[in-house]
Amino acid sequence: MTDFTYAVDADGVATITWDVTAKSMNVMSTEGFALLDSLIDRALADAGVKGVILTSGKKDFAGGMDLNVIAQMRAGGAQAIFDGVMQMHGVLRKIERGGMDPKTKKGGKPIVAALPGTALGIGYELPLACHRIIAADNPKAKIGLPEIMVGIFPGAGGTTRLVRKMGAMMAAPFLLEGKLSDPKSAKAAGLVDEVVAPDALLSRAKEWVLQAKDADLVKPWDDKGYKMPGGAPYHPAGFMTYVGASAMIMGKTMGVYPAAKALLSAAYEGALVPFDTALKIEARWFTSVLMNPSSSAMIRSLFINKEALEKGANRPKVADQTVAKVGVIGAGMMGAGIAYVSASAGIEVVLIDAAQEAADRGKAHSADLLDKGMKRGKITAEKKAEVLGRIIATTDYAALAGCDLIVEAVFEDPKVKADVTAKVEAAVGEGCIFATNTSTLPISGLAKASQRPANFIGIHFFSPVDKMNLVEIIRGKETGDVAVAKALDYVRQIRKTPIVVNDARFFYANRCIIPYINEGIRMVAEGVEPALVENAAKLVGMPLGPLQLVDETSIDLGVKIAKATRAAMGDAYPDGAVDAVLFWMADQGRMGKKANAGFYAYDAAGKREGLWEGLAAQYPLAESQPDLTTVQHRLLMAQVLEAVRALEDGVLTDIREGDVGAILGWGFAPWSGGPFSWLDIIGAARAVEICDHLTATQGARFTAPALLREMAAKGEGFYTSRYATKAA
Ligand code: NAD
Repeated sequence: MTDFTYAVDADGVATITWDVTAKSMNVMSTEGFALLDSLIDRALADAGVKGVILTSGKKDFAGGMDLNVIAQMRAGGAQAIFDGVMQMHGVLRKIERGGMDPKTKKGGKPIVAALPGTALGIGYELPLACHRIIAADNPKAKIGLPEIMVGIFPGAGGTTRLVRKMGAMMAAPFLLEGKLSDPKSAKAAGLVDEVVAPDALLSRAKEWVLQAKDADLVKPWDDKGYKMPGGAPYHPAGFMTYVGASAMIMGKTMGVYPAAKALLSAAYEGALVPFDTALKIEARWFTSVLMNPSSSAMIRSLFINKEALEKGANRPKVADQTVAKVGVIGAGMMGAGIAYVSASAGIEVVLIDAAQEAADRGKAHSADLLDKGMKRGKITAEKKAEVLGRIIATTDYAALAGCDLIVEAVFEDPKVKADVTAKVEAAVGEGCIFATNTSTLPISGLAKASQRPANFIGIHFFSPVDKMNLVEIIRGKETGDVAVAKALDYVRQIRKTPIVVNDARFFYANRCIIPYINEGIRMVAEGVEPALVENAAKLVGMPLGPLQLVDETSIDLGVKIAKATRAAMGDAYPDGAVDAVLFWMADQGRMGKKANAGFYAYDAAGKREGLWEGLAAQYPLAESQPDLTTVQHRLLMAQVLEAVRALEDGVLTDIREGDVGAILGWGFAPWSGGPFSWLDIIGAARAVEICDHLTATQGARFTAPALLREMAAKGEGFYTSRYATKAA
């Protein structure tokens, strides 16, 4: 166990160096924390030691707590979590007191945190307990408390200390939004005390230790007469802050994220009591959040499993397939975005369109995005030139020579795609992988146009490409392992999250999202208040209600998909009632957001104003309205049952991909951890009960899949069944 090492120099300054062997980034484990505790004891007990520098042997300080440890803590139950957290508080408090006399506050040893780079989560909470935080001027470093992003909150004193350090208002973006800062911004915000040149980090830390006075070691909250910056809760300013924050959190989270509420409660209640009691309150709220199934589901999907997929959990075992040169065919909305993310990742790009003008326009999209990055200070002029320099915009297929991957994003028309496939294959080498970005056409059908179907695959991006992090990789019937590995290695290069699914109508994400939109529209046809539909969706954690979503993606696309689906399904097509609304909207010219008219009304500048009143004339409100829960069950089950069927059908082969893909692909209620996690939270038996009720009242589309019934009968959950064999 060598997570921390200890050395004392000739001047009596001890250095504790965090350097977790076998990991590129330091993360805190239970054993690591115990070792740190013993080293602090050793330094405090050694009369020859004047003070301590806590630093890292790596380029960064720490990435945070090992979230697997948090998962293990949970297994011990509430009391075990609380005891564990209180023990951690004890160690951090010991650091903060530095061995001083509690009465006179004298005689403590200075402990300084020297951060060479990134310091996140416990990697910043630990420095917060030290007497001074010195950060190296490393613009790539990120400092802050991102816990809220994975459904927990800073529970190692970070919440209590930051609120007392800067006041609730100033601490809010760092705690409630998990805002991260580079060292200079961290200094400006008061998160760190000093920023120094990287090579002066340790010398400056030592200098500070040697000159620190007793008074330098006393934290404001341990000092007499401490007043909370910005005012305590019953101070007029404090009152405004907490009332405002409470409203803001409810507005942003719709009350579905337990961590945000718990965080605010810990901050508020903690601010009313002495510091050590506040830590206890923080520990209680932290325990309650860890015991909430939402936090474990979020950690599992958004951290552990997302990372596992990014690291290639489902990658076939073939040689490295890193992409050096990619050809992007079709420089429209998707192709232009794909060229941008590829070039930004250091890949050479040939961007082809039918006309030079269109190809140039596609490349100009990258220039626009890079300009925006420059305006925000994120990108330098050199970087912009470098990225643009990697993109060749042309109409000439001969430029594709040497490409090892092609991503085709031309019109959604099998004939156009077949023609492009043939032209590309004539221009590239045998080993080149051909990927289509089709959103609706089965891959195995498109592969018929290929001479090399083993090299033919689907790589389905979501729009806008630069923002959406999920990429759906689709294995056609004849797709080979090398093509899958190539697609996965490419997605890793562009730093997105992949899922690998089998070929079927709409693959996975669109297969689940379309029934969600349709269920919303169906309710409009039934005379359900549209605002009830939209708000029910948001109150269950969907980022967009189904009507807003179809406005954003456009009504004409909905019409196109409906027509194609009906043509493919014939008499079995179940969505006639939905189409009546959709087609009527199209006839009214209400094509959605892009037309400034859809289910919502928009002002001339395109700002959404509210639900369109004309809807009520065509679809009068029914006298009896369903209750909120029924609407929510309909909207959630429409998606979730499709996910279960995708698993039953073998389109999905891994529930981790089903959960991660749902959250990243279409924003499925992230608090739930995804559709399979949601089913586990409510339990298969309850899910079947809801399905049976909805089937009786709404129709056969809610029939519980056999798989779900089987689980209910066995008392199993997805993550505790045979489907969990691959999962964490
Ligand atoms: P688009 O109309 O914006 O772009 C298509 C581009 O392909 C145009 O620039 C067009 O000039 C070019 N093109 C057409 N025929 C060509 C040919 N023979 N040779 C070279 N270039 C040709 O469309 P888009 O929205 O970017 O969609 C492209 C593909 O991506 C489609 O298959 C679509 O289904 C899929 N897709 C779209 C979205 C989305 O949200 N728009 C999402 C995922 C996937």
